[in-house]
Amino acid sequence: MLGLMQSQNLLISGLLKHAARNHAAGQIVSRTHEGTTHRYTWAESERRARRLVRALQRLGVRESDRLGTLAMNGYRHLEVYYAAPGMGAICHTINPRLHPDDIDYIVNHAGDRVLFADPGFASLVSTIADAIKGCVRDVVILTDAANMPDVTLAPGMTLHCYETLMDTADEDYAWPDFDENTASALCYTSGTTGRPKGVLYSHRSTVLHAYAGALPDLFCNKATDRILPVVPMFHVNAWGIPYGCALTGSALVMPGRHMDGASLANMMNDERVNMTAGVPTIWLGLLQHLRASGDRLTTVKRIVTGGSAAPPMLIEAFRDEYGIRVEHAWGMTEMSPLGTYNSPKVAQAGLEGAAAVKHMLKQGRIGPGIDMKIVDGEGKELPWDGVAFGDLKVRGPWIASAYFGDEPGAALDQNGWFATGDVSTIDPEGFMEITDRSKDVIKSGGEWISSIALENIAVSHPDVAEAAVIAARHPKWDERPLLLVTAKPGHTIDPASVLKVYEGQIAKWWLPDEVLVVEELPHTATGKLQKTTLRIKYKDHYMGAAG
Ligand code: ADP
Repeated sequence: MLGLMQSQNLLISGLLKHAARNHAAGQIVSRTHEGTTHRYTWAESERRARRLVRALQRLGVRESDRLGTLAMNGYRHLEVYYAAPGMGAICHTINPRLHPDDIDYIVNHAGDRVLFADPGFASLVSTIADAIKGCVRDVVILTDAANMPDVTLAPGMTLHCYETLMDTADEDYAWPDFDENTASALCYTSGTTGRPKGVLYSHRSTVLHAYAGALPDLFCNKATDRILPVVPMFHVNAWGIPYGCALTGSALVMPGRHMDGASLANMMNDERVNMTAGVPTIWLGLLQHLRASGDRLTTVKRIVTGGSAAPPMLIEAFRDEYGIRVEHAWGMTEMSPLGTYNSPKVAQAGLEGAAAVKHMLKQGRIGPGIDMKIVDGEGKELPWDGVAFGDLKVRGPWIASAYFGDEPGAALDQNGWFATGDVSTIDPEGFMEITDRSKDVIKSGGEWISSIALENIAVSHPDVAEAAVIAARHPKWDERPLLLVTAKPGHTIDPASVLKVYEGQIAKWWLPDEVLVVEELPHTATGKLQKTTLRIKYKDHYMGAAG
C-alpha cells in the first residue's frame, strides 16, 4: 500500500523559491572582482536567476546542456548555480587553479555548451579557447559592459557580457517541474591520481544534502546566521552552502577572489559573519594575519574546516586566543561533499583542554541518511574500537554511484558501497579518524603505517615547515617510510633531531628510515600535498639498502 502524502519532486529551484518567498529580504553580499561590495536579497537573486534562464534560452541552451563556470564566489555565479539546474540544464563548476591542459580536458569531457568566466580568468579562457572550440559556443564574462576584459576566442565562439545579456532578457519564467533524479550539477575531482573524473549531482541528492547539512550537529544554519563560505563554489559546490543558505534563509556572504587573511577578517567583521567554512590553509593565513595585525574577529563564532586534516594548533589557537570554535568536517567531491562532522555527543560535550583538542582532531560522526564502514585488505568489516584501521567505505543518497560517462553503479562494490580511498579508524561512539589515504599508507612487512601520523609528528619539530611521508620500496620490508621535510624561513634542519621527536610517540618500527631535507614539496591545485610526484621520484630510494 502506498502512503497518501503529496508527492513533490525535490528540486533545486524549490530551495530558491522558498528563500524568495519566505526570506525575501535575506541578504546576499558579494565582494566583486573590482573590489566593490554588491548587496541584494534572496528575492532579487531569484528574479535574476529567472532572467538568466530567459537569456540562456535565447542562446539556445536546452535541458541537459552543460554550462561551465570558471568563477569565484559571487552573486552572478550564484545566479548560474540556480538558473542552470532550474531550467533542467547542468551547472558545471570548473577549478580555475588546475593546469590549463586539465581544464580543456574537463571542458571537452563534459561537453560544455556555454562557458561563464570571471573577468579575472579572461586570459585563461583565451589560452584554452582553441582547445575547447569543439563544444563551447558561447563565452559569457561575469561582469558589466564597463568592465569587459579582452578575450580572444576561436572562430565559431561568441563572446558575451553577462549584464548585457541580462538587460536584453525578461523575467517572465515559471520554474518547471520535472523528475528529481535529473542531473543538476557537475564537478570534477581534482585528480591527485590520473585525469579528473566528473561527479554528476542530481536535484534529489543536492536537496537531501542541503537538508542534512543544515542540521544542528552539522552546519546548523539558521535564518539569523550570516555565513561566509571561503571554500570556493568551484570546489564541491562550496560544500553545499549556497543551497543550504537558501533552505534556511541565512545571509550568504561571498568574498570573490579576496581570500587573504586581511580581506577575510575585514569582510567578516564588516558583514557581521558568524559562521565560515574553508580549508586549513585559509585558516592558517587568517590566523597569521590576526596575530600580526592584532585584529580580532568580532562576530565569528564557528569556523568549519575540512578538505584536509586540521592541525591541532589551528583548533587551539582560535579557541584560546580568539574564543572561536574550529569544527572539523570530512567529505569528498563524490559525497556532495558532506560525510562526517565533529559535533560532540553527551560523552564528549564536557571535554576540556588538550583532551578536547585531541577529540576535535577526529573527522567526526557520519551524517544521518548515509552510512560508513571500515574494511581490511580482504574486505572484512573491522570493529569500531578506535584502534583498527582499514579502508573507509560509504553509501547513501548523496554519494556518487558512477563517474560522468560511466554506467550507473560503476564506482560501487557489489553491495553498493563506495570506496573513499581514505584509511581510518572509527571509535565506539562512531567518531571516524582518518589515518591515511589508501594509496599513501605504508605497507611494511604486512603491517600498515600511517603517513599522516608521521607527518603530524614531524611538523611539531620547531624547524620544520612542512612534511611528507611516502612509501619507498624496500628489499626486505616491501615498503618503508621516507620522510621529506622543508625548513621554516631562516631555519636549518638537523635530520637526526627530527627523528628524536618520534621517541615515545610511535611504535619503533614506524620510525622513518631516513629524513630528507628538501627545498619545497609539490602541491595539487587544491593545495594538498602531491605525493604521486614524490613517489615517482623517491620510490626506489631504499632499493640499495641491505635491509
Ligand atoms: P581531491 O581528493 O580530488 O583532492 P576532494 O575535495 O574530493 O578532492 O578530496 C577528498 C579527500 O580529501 C578525502 O577523501 C580525504 O582524503 C581528504 N579530506 C577531506 N576532508 C578531510 C579532513 N577533514 N581531514 C583529512 N582529510 C580530509
